Amino acid sequence: MEFCPECGSMMMPDEDGILTCNSCGHSDANTNTADYEGISIGEHESEDTVKMLGEDVDLGPGVTEICPKCGHDKATYELKQTRSADEAPTRFFTCKKCKHKWREYD
Ligand SMILES: [Zn+2]
Ligand SMILES: [Zn+2]
Repeated sequence: MEFCPECGSMMMPDEDGILTCNSCGHSDANTNTADYEGISIGEHESEDTVKMLGEDVDLGPGVTEICPKCGHDKATYELKQTRSADEAPTRFFTCKKCKHKWREYD
């Protein structure tokens, strides 16, 4: 049910299907018909949710370790079995900033 915005009377569609007020003759021809255009504007799901992955993928696991050379506190490490298999592997750090390498002190 539509009511005339001008006088509030009930509006009825005319022969063309355009809502027209019986009381004051107000017609929705200029307003409602516009609604039938632009319906095809779809709401596409955004593809912008690409995850940011792999920033430090090539550097191995990151740890907080102070570089003895430059003082940077982020490094990567790798474990190396230096002596016999009975001993714990030694961690070798690589500074993320200056690429300095040093071994873990134990
Ligand atoms: Zn009216
Ligand atoms: Zn460093």
